[in-house]
Amino acid sequence: MKIGFIGLGNMGAPMAANLVAAGHEVVGFDTVAGAPDSVMRAGSAAEAVAGVEVAITMLPNGAILRAVAGEVIPAMAAGAVLVDCSTVEVEAARHVAGLAQEAGLGWLDAPVSGGIGGAAAGTLTFMVGGSEEAFARVGPLFDIMGQKAVLCGPAGNGQAAKICNNMILGVTMIATCEAFAMADKLGLSRSAMFDVVSTSSGYSWTMNAYCPAPGVGPKSPADNDYKPGFAAELMLKDLGLSQSAAEAADADTPMGALALALYRRWVEEEDGRGRDFSAMLPRFEGRGRMAT
Ligand code: NAD
Repeated sequence: MKIGFIGLGNMGAPMAANLVAAGHEVVGFDTVAGAPDSVMRAGSAAEAVAGVEVAITMLPNGAILRAVAGEVIPAMAAGAVLVDCSTVEVEAARHVAGLAQEAGLGWLDAPVSGGIGGAAAGTLTFMVGGSEEAFARVGPLFDIMGQKAVLCGPAGNGQAAKICNNMILGVTMIATCEAFAMADKLGLSRSAMFDVVSTSSGYSWTMNAYCPAPGVGPKSPADNDYKPGFAAELMLKDLGLSQSAAEAADADTPMGALALALYRRWVEEEDGRGRDFSAMLPRFEGRGRMAT
C-alpha cells in the first residue's frame, strides 16, 4: 500500500518504520523530527499524502490535527482513508471526520495504548471509531503496528474509549499510590501489601502489572527511578481531555475531576514533570493529611 505518515515523533517514527519493514511504501512528513532512515521524507504534509491509499497522522493535540487536516484533506484522492492515531478531543475527531467525509474520504480515529515500547515492538492496541468499510481496509496496517484493533462505533468513538480508559487509569493509579503510602504509615510492608491486594478485591492493572512501589511486583518504571514509561504530563493531557468530554456530554465524573486536579498540581507546581505517572507514590510518601 502507498501510505502517507504525518508526525514522526516518539510514536509515529517507529510505527512508520514498522509499516516499511512489512513492505509498504511510506512517505513521511514532520515539521521537526527527522524521518527514520527507511521512511521517505516529503517537503510538506500535502506532498506526503498525494496519491496515497491511506494517510496516517500521529500528532501532539487536536489543534494541530485540525491544522494538518486542512492541508492534507484537499491533497488526498477521493476514496482514500485518513486515519488519526493521535490522542485528541472527541469533538476534534468528529469535526475532522466530517471534513474528510465531505471530501469523499474514509475516516478512522484510532488512538493507541501501549506507549513507545508498544510502537517499537508493533504491539499497540488501537481503539477505533469510523465505518466498518474503512476499518476493514486499514485493518492489515493495524495488524502490523499493533496486536489488537477494536472498532468501537462511529467517528469519535475511538477517542471516547481512549479517554474513558485513561480516566480509570489515572484515578486507579492515585488510589493505588495513596493506599501504599497509607500502608507505610500503618506499618504494613510493601511486599505484604502487594501480595494481599494483587490477589484481593483491590487488584487492578496499576497494582498487578505496573506496580508503583519499587522492588515489588513485576518490573515497572518504579524499578527504573520512575523514568517514563508513561509520563505524568501525558496522563495530565488525557485527564484534561476526559474532563472536556465530560463537560460536553454533561457527565458527572467527580473522581476524574479530582484526578485531573491532582496531576495538574503535581506536574505544574511540584516535581511531576518528566517523571513516570506512577511517581505519585513518592509524592504521597510521608505527607500528612494537612499537606497542601
Ligand atoms: P511527539 O511529540 O514525540 O510527536 C509528535 C510529532 O508531531 C513531533 O515530531 C512533531 O514535530 C510533529 N508535528 C507537530 N506539528 C506538526 C505539523 N503541523 N506537521 C507535521 N508534524 C508535526 O509525541 P508522541 O509521544 O509521538 O505522541 C503522539 C500522540 O500519541 C499524542 O497525541 C499522544 O498523546 C499519543 N500517545 C502517546 C503515547 C506515548 O507514550 N508517547 C502513548 C499513547 C498515545
